[in-house]
Amino acid sequence: SYSISHDLRAPLRAIYGFSQILSTRHRPSLNDEGRQYMDYIVEASIRMAKLINDLLNYSRLGRKSLDIRPVPLDIIVNNVYADFKPKLEEIGAIFCVDKELPVIKGDESLFRQIFTNLIENAITYRRTDVQLEININCECNYDGYLIKISDNGIGISSEYRDKIFSIFQRLHSDDKYPGTGIGLATVRKAVSLNEGTVWVESVVGKGSVFFIHLPEYKNTFQNG
Ligand code: ADP
Repeated sequence: SYSISHDLRAPLRAIYGFSQILSTRHRPSLNDEGRQYMDYIVEASIRMAKLINDLLNYSRLGRKSLDIRPVPLDIIVNNVYADFKPKLEEIGAIFCVDKELPVIKGDESLFRQIFTNLIENAITYRRTDVQLEININCECNYDGYLIKISDNGIGISSEYRDKIFSIFQRLHSDDKYPGTGIGLATVRKAVSLNEGTVWVESVVGKGSVFFIHLPEYKNTFQNG
């Protein structure tokens, strides 16, 4: 999928580039129907570019060797929070993080990807009639670490709770909630490269909790 998505980019760039030229430079010589079709081609190629980029990002994960070292989760979460801060402020969201996020052994860039995708989804699938609340915490138990990322969004019906981690599985139309269906597949791949597991518990109309379990044997020398 890496080389396919890579090779698809060049012809797509040509389709996008020429259709944009047509729809701007030659717009006056088209009738209404022609203009509308040109706009559809430009929109579709933008969407295709997003799909290919996400697919490339997905297939890139794990291609280079992992850089396993102790990763301070509080710094990762703070950095990801900073990326989303303008959006979170714009929608008036509450973002709560446990003060005591641990240092966990793993690949830092994978952790960054995991938190980015889950927070982005919490924002996308929020309920518009309540204030969005995102909570992040981490428990240390007998067999490792359990990270929880919870939201009070639209929730996910139980029959789809496994499916959504597969590539291209989406539960909504692009008009309602834009997306490519690759975000959670990427999360699952990143978690499993860190030798963990991910799952979700959710109540439709109330919210979702994404759980990430990382086994203890990976984490023998952290946290003093
Ligand atoms: P995308 O968001 O691009 O559609 P994802 O793989 O990230 O792709 O998510 C797959 C599907 O899972 C989404 O289309 C959405 O229906 C559902 N989903 C993911 N995260 C959440 C969430 N926090 N709350 C509700 N639904 C979610």
